[in-house]
Amino acid sequence: MTATTNNSASNNTGIDKAALKEKYRQEREKRLRPDGVDQYIRLTDGFGEYLSDPYMEVQPREPKTDHVTVAFIGGGFAGLVTGARLKEAGIDDYRIIEKAGDFGGTWYWNRYPGAQCDTASFVYMPLLEETGHMPTEKYAHAPEILEQCQRIGKQYGLYDNALFHTEVKDLVWDEDNNRWIISTDRGDRFTAQFLGLGTGPLHVPKLPGIPGIKDFKGHSFHTSRWDYSYTGGDPYGAPMDKLRDKSVAIIGTGATAIQCVPHLSRDAGELFVFQRTPSSVDVRNNIPTDPDWFKSISTPGWQKRWLENFTANQTGGFVTEDLVQDGWTDLANRIRSRVLSLPPGEFTLERVQEVWEDCDYEKMEEIRARIDSIVEDTSTAQGLKAWYRQLCKRPCFHDEYLQSFNNPNTHLVDTNGKGVDAITETSVIVAGKEYPVDCIVYASGFEVGTEFHDRCGFDLTGVEGRKLSERWAEGMRTLHGMHVHDFPNAFIVQPTQAGNLISNIPHNLIEGAATIVSIVKHALDNGYQRVEATSEAEQKWVDIILQGGAMSLFNPDCTPGYYNFEGQDPGIRGKLYVGYPQGPMAFFQFIDQWRNSGKFDGLEFS
Ligand code: NDP
Repeated sequence: MTATTNNSASNNTGIDKAALKEKYRQEREKRLRPDGVDQYIRLTDGFGEYLSDPYMEVQPREPKTDHVTVAFIGGGFAGLVTGARLKEAGIDDYRIIEKAGDFGGTWYWNRYPGAQCDTASFVYMPLLEETGHMPTEKYAHAPEILEQCQRIGKQYGLYDNALFHTEVKDLVWDEDNNRWIISTDRGDRFTAQFLGLGTGPLHVPKLPGIPGIKDFKGHSFHTSRWDYSYTGGDPYGAPMDKLRDKSVAIIGTGATAIQCVPHLSRDAGELFVFQRTPSSVDVRNNIPTDPDWFKSISTPGWQKRWLENFTANQTGGFVTEDLVQDGWTDLANRIRSRVLSLPPGEFTLERVQEVWEDCDYEKMEEIRARIDSIVEDTSTAQGLKAWYRQLCKRPCFHDEYLQSFNNPNTHLVDTNGKGVDAITETSVIVAGKEYPVDCIVYASGFEVGTEFHDRCGFDLTGVEGRKLSERWAEGMRTLHGMHVHDFPNAFIVQPTQAGNLISNIPHNLIEGAATIVSIVKHALDNGYQRVEATSEAEQKWVDIILQGGAMSLFNPDCTPGYYNFEGQDPGIRGKLYVGYPQGPMAFFQFIDQWRNSGKFDGLEFS
C-alpha cells in the first residue's frame, strides 16, 4: 500500500493515494449497517445494573424545597468552572445537582485502570492557575484529574449546597415567578432563578447490540463502572490480582480500550481483545512535569495563554510557537507549513484540501508503520491497522497498547469489521469460533446522536408549556450554542453551534462559564428577572451555522462511528451538529467581545 510512484502518488510523498482511497472505501463499506445508532442497547432497557455506582454509597437526605439563584445540572468541569467563576463574581447562591456521588463528571465514572487525559494536562485540567496545582505529568492520570475536580469544589465552597446521587427528572419554567421548578428522583422540588445545563456529551454508557448478551453467566461490566471488587487493583494502577487465573474479554477498541488493555494484558490470565474497527494509535510520549520548568512557565495568565496557543495550533491558526507540541498539534502544524509553502497562484481551496489530504495520508502511513515496528506477529500487526483519515475517529495516543499484543496471553480477535457475532452463557463467538471467558469488559462507549432529553432523562418545559424535545425534534437550534428562545434564564454549556473544539472540550466549557457569569451578573446588577434569546437572534445564528459550511461530523468518506452518526446520513440534524463556521478561535474571540461589550445582542432582559 505504500511507496509506489504511479500517477496518483501524492506530491513528494510516494504514497499511492488512489489505492489508499479505495482501501478506505472498502473498509468503510464493510462496517456500514442499516441500524446505525440503533444497533446499541440503551441501559435503561433492562440493563440498569450496568449503571449503578460501584464507587460510593447513596447517602440518605431530606428533599429540598428551597430557592437558589443559580442551579446547575452536572458536577463535571462545566458545573465546577461555572460555580468557581460565579463565586469569584460574588454570586454565592449556587447549587450543583449531580447524579454521581461526588464532583468529577466523566472523571468520577471513568476509573478504569490506565485512564488518563488525552490532551495535555496544562490545557485540559481547568483552573490550574487558580488552584495552584501543578499537573504531575504531561498527560495526568484519572485520579489526579478527579482530585483537581474535588480541589475546585472545596476551594470555591461548591460542596456546601451540592446535591449528589440526584437525578433531575423535570424542569418547568414558572412564568409568573420567573424561575425554574426543578424536580428530582430524590423527592426534591425547589426553584432557581437561573439554570445551567452541563450534562456532557458522553455520559450515558451503552452496550453493543450483540445477540445473546443477556445470557452471559460470567461477570461483566462497562468500563465506566469498573468493578475493582471483581478484578482487584485500583484506579492508581495496582495489579488486578484477582484476574490472574481469569480469562477476560474486552469488547471495543476505542479510546477507552486503548488505555485499559495494557493493564488487562499485564494482569489477566488470558486476554481476548475483540475488535471491530482499529483505532489509530500514535505516540504518547508522556513525561513527568519538571517543577523548575513548570515554575518558569506559570507566570500570571499562563493557562489562558496555553489554552489559546493549543487551540490556535490545533485548529490551523497562524501562530509562531507550539507550546504543547503533541499528536493533536502535529497534523495541524504539518498542514499549515505545507499550505504556507504553496506558491501564491496555487493558494486555492482545492489545493489546500489536497494538501490536507496528503498530510493525513502521510500521518496515517506513519501510524501504520509504527505498528509494524512494534507488533511482532505480522498478522496481528496487520489487523491493528486503521484505514481511514485520522480525524474520522477519535485519534488515540499510547506507548504501551501496541506492545501488549506481544504478550503471549494477549490475543487480538479481529472481527473484520463485523463485530462480535454472539454471546452465550460462557463464551464470545466470532466467525463460528467460541472464546470461553470468565469476564466480559464492555468498552463500547457512550450514547451519542440520541435525543438530548432521552440521554439526560429529563425534558425542559419552557414558556407556555413548550418542550425542548419538540423544539429540537428537527435538530438543535440555539443562539451561540447556549440559549434557546422560549426557555428563559436557561444556559446550556456545551460545544455544538459554538466553539466545537473537540480536541480540548474544557476550553469550550471555560468560555461557556465566562459567558453565563457575565449574563447573570448583568441581570442581577440591573434588577432584571428574566433573560431570553429572541426568536430572530436564534434564527440568525442557526442560519450562520447552516450556511457557514463548517465541517460536519457527518463525513460520508469516514468509517462509521459516533463521530458520524454511525455512517447514516442524519439529514438536517447533522448539518446543525457543527460549530461556528470560522472555527473555535474565531468563536472564542467573538463571544469574548460579545459578552464584554455589555450589550448582549440577541438577548432580551426584562
Ligand atoms: P467508543 O465509542 O470510542 O468505542 C466503542 C468501541 O466499541 C468501538 O471500538 C466500537 O467499534 C466497539 N463496538 C461497538 N459495537 C461492537 C460490536 N458489536 N462488536 C465489537 N465491537 C463493538 O467508546 P470509548 O469509551 O472508547 O470512547 C468514547 C469517547 O470517550 C472517546 O472517543 C473520547 O472522546 C472519550 N475518551 C476520552 C479519553 C481521554 O480523553 N482520556 C479516554 C477515553 C475515552 P467501532 O469503532 O467499529 O464502532
